[in-house]
Amino acid sequence: MFKHYLLVLVCSVSFLFCTQFDQPVPTDYEVSSAVKWTMNSAEYAIITEYLYRSATRTISTLEPPNEPWVVAMDVDETLLNNVEYNRRRDLLGLGYSSESWAEWVKEESATAVPGSIAFVTEVLKNGGQIVLITNRNRDLDQFTWNNLTALGFPIDRSNTCIMGRSQADRDSVGESEMINDKDLRRTQISTGTATYCWENYPETQIHWNKSFSIIYEVGDNIKDFNQTTQENVDRLNFIDRVSSDVLLLPNAVYGSWE
Ligand SMILES: [Mg+2]
Repeated sequence: MFKHYLLVLVCSVSFLFCTQFDQPVPTDYEVSSAVKWTMNSAEYAIITEYLYRSATRTISTLEPPNEPWVVAMDVDETLLNNVEYNRRRDLLGLGYSSESWAEWVKEESATAVPGSIAFVTEVLKNGGQIVLITNRNRDLDQFTWNNLTALGFPIDRSNTCIMGRSQADRDSVGESEMINDKDLRRTQISTGTATYCWENYPETQIHWNKSFSIIYEVGDNIKDFNQTTQENVDRLNFIDRVSSDVLLLPNAVYGSWE
């Protein structure tokens, strides 16, 4: 009541001053629709779970090759859901930055993409190995690994190799057969030269110092797939591969399409 009387008094003294009470008060920034969809919708959870269940069935019924084989997987928005990071940035009115991203990764609080743990479990159960080809910086690999194991992904250093992005990966683009910045790592795995997989874990060398057949690729970005980009992808051909050797997950928040 006192505030009301005070407002009337102030307004009666100066109309100009009174109008300042009607100015919109600055509010927090909005969270984007893409972030809301990923965070809250039944659709996102259903689509990702459905896609992973289909892929898990494919893995469970495939005839494994005679040679060592791996499934190559991206991490962000493929195994780990980072939408909380994007929500925080949206509320600040800010986008991605490498500094804030590194802080987020070090929190190790990303959640699992629905269906992804069951898929990884099936690959390992069927005798495959997993290579995690992520564009998180290589010096963040341990944080990523901690986040994954805490969520219950049944990975260890002998069945899974995590390969963050190095300067060599950035520099490789444009060289022969290197169309995108994950191609170098895929080549290292398929030729048995991914020394990074065992240089810090020498006891695992026996598991990684061999040539692998990459039989399946999983990602949310078209560049998660061998020698593929937004510009060169043959969409019809890619669709034909979906039920056999690739799994593409939805990511409406960010990607190489931006
Ligand atoms: Mg990704």
